[in-house]
Amino acid sequence: MGAALSARRRNDATKARRPDGAPSIDAARFRTFGSRLRAWYRRNARDLPWRQTRDPYRILVSELMLQQTQVSRVLGFYHRFLERFPSLTALAEARPKQVREQWEGLGYYARARNLHKLSRQVTRDGGEYGGTLPAEPEALRALPGIGAYTAGAVASFAHEKRAALVDTNVARVLSRVFAPHLHPKRSRDLTQLWTLAQRSLPRTGRATWTHNQALMELGALVCTARVKNCARCPVRAVCATYAADVGPVLTRPRA
Ligand code: SF4
Repeated sequence: MGAALSARRRNDATKARRPDGAPSIDAARFRTFGSRLRAWYRRNARDLPWRQTRDPYRILVSELMLQQTQVSRVLGFYHRFLERFPSLTALAEARPKQVREQWEGLGYYARARNLHKLSRQVTRDGGEYGGTLPAEPEALRALPGIGAYTAGAVASFAHEKRAALVDTNVARVLSRVFAPHLHPKRSRDLTQLWTLAQRSLPRTGRATWTHNQALMELGALVCTARVKNCARCPVRAVCATYAADVGPVLTRPRA
């Protein structure tokens, strides 16, 4: 397969640079990475409620709840919160105490406060949003509590925009596959990982939806912070870390 490179060629490739400083990656390697990743996702994705909707509000709630919180913990809160506040308008009309009560136990209450503030800003009479969350990442980022990752997630998962997103899982996968020398905690390196994320996107917004979900799923289930399950990884043929045989490699799937 053309894009499957030898360890030596892959490691050499990670050292080459583009004018913007990001590693120079062959387009064929991006294509192989993306097609294998998305095919794997179609067979292995978990059935999660926020993957069954394109409602921007529901997706925003899920993304905020999932920040620094495990999926299994979020599920119950997600359903209860949306039952109590089924729309941005319903949330905007609530008192801060009522919002906090629904978030109680999930922690990081700044997320709830920002979400409430956002709901009031977006639904304000005569305001610029007319009650609807914007679709473009730049416009989303102007709202309270929405950073680059969440803006990309809402644009991609709700509106099927061709938008990149990089959270901890995505940064780990991209650096291991394409540029093991990059460290997501260094801001300059993180910028380069965003560039890689953008360049690895498929051509359409619809395929980007699957691509972004798949990147996150691979980081959660296969290429995790604790272990690399390279033996069952769909992208190992194009992975620089696999080629260099860095770190522990498991042969058994993890739950
Ligand atoms: S081959 Fe291994 S290191 Fe590379 S992405 Fe897959 S699990 Fe991670």
